[in-house]
Amino acid sequence: MGDLFATTYGRGVAQGLGRDLAARHGPPVVVTQPEPWASLEADFGVQPAALVMVEGLEREYLDGLVRDLPAGPVLGIGGGSAMDAAKWLHWRRGVPLWQVPSLPSVNACFTHMVAVRDATGVHYSGDAIPEMVFVDFDLMREAPAHLLRGGIGDVFTCHTARWDWEYAVARGHDPAWEEHAAAESLRIVSELHALAPAIRERSDEGIEGLMELHRLIGKMCDDYGHARFEEGSEHFFAYAFEFVNGHTIMHGELGSLGVLIMSALQGNRPEYAREIVERAGVRHRPEELGITWHEIEAALRELPAFVKREGLWYSIANDLLVDEAALARAREAIDF
Ligand SMILES: [Zn+2]
Repeated sequence: MGDLFATTYGRGVAQGLGRDLAARHGPPVVVTQPEPWASLEADFGVQPAALVMVEGLEREYLDGLVRDLPAGPVLGIGGGSAMDAAKWLHWRRGVPLWQVPSLPSVNACFTHMVAVRDATGVHYSGDAIPEMVFVDFDLMREAPAHLLRGGIGDVFTCHTARWDWEYAVARGHDPAWEEHAAAESLRIVSELHALAPAIRERSDEGIEGLMELHRLIGKMCDDYGHARFEEGSEHFFAYAFEFVNGHTIMHGELGSLGVLIMSALQGNRPEYAREIVERAGVRHRPEELGITWHEIEAALRELPAFVKREGLWYSIANDLLVDEAALARAREAIDF
């Protein structure tokens, strides 16, 4: 079992970071995205050894960065892509890494592996351990409120994922049941429920609490070598949605929509799921997400065939009968 990554929380903790790092290690290579860099640039305090606006996580692109960038420690600033690209540079070059996540929506800053894309799909590889993860509350509050609140997505998904895992194991499917991971998954959702109003408020306490849950989930992903306790039919719904409709929305909001719908189809405390979304103020109505009920319905109709074709983990999605009654339950689950 690994350790939780070292993390510093506070207002303005990412300000002046360039100056501090440069004094001890030389100017860093900064791997970032336009919005968070615009927030930190003025007080960064040093000229970066190189400034990279991350363009993706394709293997070829990442290896190009490793080949072409000047030497120096690496500082990642931004969302999941910036975190992962910075991890790749750090791991391949054996240089120190610091991370500044700009949204509390992903656990990429808290996991060892990188989600690298190539012609055959997404592969997880690498082994990154940052010197420090800096969670700057001021920086996170600069993001639009709905993106910050949508950050509950990959924590909230534990609700339906743990249920699917138990369902699969009872029918003889991998990965094997781990009582501790399953119990933690339940506890994480109840902590999220308690924390939800503070997340809605975007308070320091709400942001720190949510990041602590992402940090724990990141460690559990590494410890168990899979994310079954956090990824189930709600994610598969999201993937089917993207496949069928050819576009997507914020991952955390789409995942939350998946939890609302799949918990209703599982018969797994849908009212509890709904309460968490209400308390955290997460957007979930199709019109506010810029999608239509028709698109959701199309994704649900495709879901059972999709999970089998893609060879996804066994879940309620394998056995769903998507008839008018099921569609009515799904529609009711997001109508509040
Ligand atoms: Zn996810």
